[in-house]
Amino acid sequence: MSENTEHVKCLIVGSGPAGYTAAIYASRADLNPVLYTGMLAGGQLTQTTDVENFPGYPKGIMGPEMMEDFRHQAERLGTDIRFGYVSSVDFSSLPHKVVADENKTILADTVIISTGASAKWLGLESEQKYSGFGVSACAVCDGFFFKGEDVAIVGAGDTAAEEATYLAKLCKKVYMIVRRDEFRASKAMVHRVLNTPNIEVLYDTETKEILGDGQSVNAVKVINIKNNEERVLDVTGFFVAIGHNPNTEIFKGWIDMDETGYIKTKPGTTLTNVEGVFCCGDAQDHIYRQAVTAAGTGCMAAIDAERYLAAKEHVVTA
Ligand code: NDP
Repeated sequence: MSENTEHVKCLIVGSGPAGYTAAIYASRADLNPVLYTGMLAGGQLTQTTDVENFPGYPKGIMGPEMMEDFRHQAERLGTDIRFGYVSSVDFSSLPHKVVADENKTILADTVIISTGASAKWLGLESEQKYSGFGVSACAVCDGFFFKGEDVAIVGAGDTAAEEATYLAKLCKKVYMIVRRDEFRASKAMVHRVLNTPNIEVLYDTETKEILGDGQSVNAVKVINIKNNEERVLDVTGFFVAIGHNPNTEIFKGWIDMDETGYIKTKPGTTLTNVEGVFCCGDAQDHIYRQAVTAAGTGCMAAIDAERYLAAKEHVVTA
């Protein structure tokens, strides 16, 4: 085997809660896992501030710090963590062939995909400036911080509708910013939004700017694109719910996905349609998208990989 080719039992691609949890379990099962972190080591949680809903942190924790904890735990148990990225895969034969950092070939008996998803953003400068300081892409994660306050949410799909009704239970008032004159969400969800008294839907409306005092958000400037009327909404929270992109591009053509790129897994498991390839976390979940659910499926992926290898070994030695 050349210097640039390596054979591993278990390769984990991605370093969010799913990947690190898979690493913890795979290490303890003696699979000697190698984990490639990807470009954003630690994943989406490194871009948030307080995390209060991950069990085991009674006082809450900062997202980046929590991901450091995950990493240390995986490392302490023996995971070989590499700050690099996987650029292509070849799942046509066993062991699977994976290219890391453009020039290293890894032959992997099992591959655990935990590449996550990325929230779509509007692309405003002020949105970036206040990200984690009033701007969020997850109402379930951050809504609690705006209890009793006025907030705005942009989007008109099922996620936005669901998150708007979730926020309406916590917040005094929710402005829902919809860019067309209709929703994309299902009728049932729209019905729920329209029947929630403290949600005000602003149709034909786009966000111009998120305003703040340099520290946190205190308003949002919007414009009605039909009559060009501008309005300033006094809100302390701004939620973006315009969809997510699963980070699964490199697996296209090799693995079954839905039409938006989420990897399909066999219900109740992390098995994909490819033997020895497992998927966990947000790369296969467009519904829950929580750190704790990602961690849960990470655990499942490592167990599925371990059982797959054990069954193979049994056949070979039987
Ligand atoms: P969607 O792609 O369905 O909706 C995105 C929404 O964001 C659309 O209304 C779109 O507007 C709007 N949008 C996109 N870009 C912008 C922009 N730049 N400015 C303003 N608005 C913008 O994403 P979702 O996350 O809502 O849903 C993803 C999938 O998950 C869907 O299939 C959905 O049905 C499913 N889902 C199901 C749930 C359930 O069953 N309980 C819960 C949540 C999601 P426009 O309509 O004008 O294009």
